[in-house]
Amino acid sequence: MKIDILTLFPEMFTPLKTSIIGRAVNSGKLEINVHDIRDYTLDKHRKCDDAPFGGGAGMVMMPQPIASAIEAIDPEHKAKRIFLSPRGRVFKQSVVLEYSREQRLLLLCGHYEGVDQRVLDLFIDEELSIGDFVLTGGEIPAMAVVDAVARYVDGVINGESLSQESFSNGLLEYPQYTRPQEFMGLKVPEVLTSGDHGKVDKWRAQKSREITLKNRPDLLKGE
Ligand code: SAM
Repeated sequence: MKIDILTLFPEMFTPLKTSIIGRAVNSGKLEINVHDIRDYTLDKHRKCDDAPFGGGAGMVMMPQPIASAIEAIDPEHKAKRIFLSPRGRVFKQSVVLEYSREQRLLLLCGHYEGVDQRVLDLFIDEELSIGDFVLTGGEIPAMAVVDAVARYVDGVINGESLSQESFSNGLLEYPQYTRPQEFMGLKVPEVLTSGDHGKVDKWRAQKSREITLKNRPDLLKGE
């Protein structure tokens, strides 16, 4: 999969060079290109934002640099083009799976008060929110999208992990334990050291339901 990210702050994307995503990029399973929108401005002072028409606080990202960037990076509109925005449809696991089936994603990160509407109308396929709160920019949301989607690219993560985690069967994950068997007076549940896989599966299924009922009863409503 190829992912292009358009931002005014490319230096914010260093975390994608580490850990599992970094390894996926280094091994060629994933291609991530971070583009500086400022490289595409025609303004001699490299200006990319201006005051909003109609008045109001803050600055709005101008359409020209973004339009030129998208036209240069994805001239034939092969990528699914996404604008990270609190106004968008909400990101969840079903959207992760949907995006993981795309060959290419283009992620546009807003900053300040956002982006001129005309560039969204002309170039963007959909707006995507990572939750009902407002961040200073789309860079952290874009990293969340890359991280979540990259896990579903072939060979990035062990398939068993993907099929036995929160949301994979509509429930949240059961509690996990590792060594030592006793920590600060708390013991690992006996069933997990019993060697009886049937009992382990039953215990995990029950805990999954309990945790889902406690933290996210809405997930059980569709049953
Ligand atoms: N004025 C905008 C509004 O009220 O919807 C908020 C602008 S926000 C300060 C700046 C940028 O951060 C947005 O253009 C968007 O790219 C990004 N952003 C902020 N919160 C986000 C969220 N929950 N999901 C996705 N992107 C978000």
